Amino acid sequence: EALRAELEETNRGVVALYAELDAQAEQLQRATELKSQFLAYMSHEFRTPVNAIRSIARLLSDEIDGPLTSEQARQVAFIQSTATEFAEMVDDLLDLAKIEAGRVDISPAWFEMVDLFSALRGMFKPVLINPGVTLVFEEPVGLPKLYTDDRKLSQILRNFISNALKFTTQGEVRVSACRQDDHTVRFSVLDTGIGIEPQYHAAVFDDFSQVDSPVQKRLRGTGLGLSLSKQLAGVLGGRVELESALGVGSTFSVILPLHVAPAPPGDAP
Ligand code: ADP
Repeated sequence: EALRAELEETNRGVVALYAELDAQAEQLQRATELKSQFLAYMSHEFRTPVNAIRSIARLLSDEIDGPLTSEQARQVAFIQSTATEFAEMVDDLLDLAKIEAGRVDISPAWFEMVDLFSALRGMFKPVLINPGVTLVFEEPVGLPKLYTDDRKLSQILRNFISNALKFTTQGEVRVSACRQDDHTVRFSVLDTGIGIEPQYHAAVFDDFSQVDSPVQKRLRGTGLGLSLSKQLAGVLGGRVELESALGVGSTFSVILPLHVAPAPPGDAP
């Protein structure tokens, strides 16, 4: 009898505990939703003023009101690059908020990797690159056409490439694509830069995380690029990977299915 009473008591305890956990889970869910809404609202509201700053800086740099002194030109260029960086951060925040709220759409299409690589090559050509660094796009061989969201894939690779260029002063940044197995493809961006200590490998993919070293601090960005890349890879049914050794370099990879969704009939290349 005493044992039964004790069991019932324990049972009641467990039930109460479950109810409490449920309530907490609900609260957490609500807080996450609010955070996503806030991020979406804030980044949306930031867009208008930051775009105004960019347009005005562009007008100034075009010197339509007369020539600028070299100091003025330097300052206008600074406004332009800072505003562009800010606009990119706002875009990243908005994208992250959308993904977290499950409101991201994918628009898959058939495309050839060579085309994506040449678009990326064009994009990075005018970017200021350290003189001691070459940017190489390997010819993708034996890759079939992919059926995925090429804009999201491009966004992931752009993040990897711009980080690689940022953290490399000598050597090369090498972009490649190869077949991983029957259903997946691996894209890699290798650099011969400063490298990342093993203790940070998982953390660099978290929101706002940055490696704690003097060089990394000097080159600090928003800390959002890699977390967005990881989330985007997930949206495309894949994952990201990092291999890196301090002082040797890093390889960031994204592994994706060849087809993000069943391809529409009759549309095959
Ligand atoms: P951000 O570059 O804006 O700071 P990211 O999310 O793109 O944010 O990167 C997070 C951090 O990971 C960077 O601040 C840097 O410390 C580290 N990191 C990313 N890519 C590299 C790389 N190729 N080599 C060395 N460190 C890197």
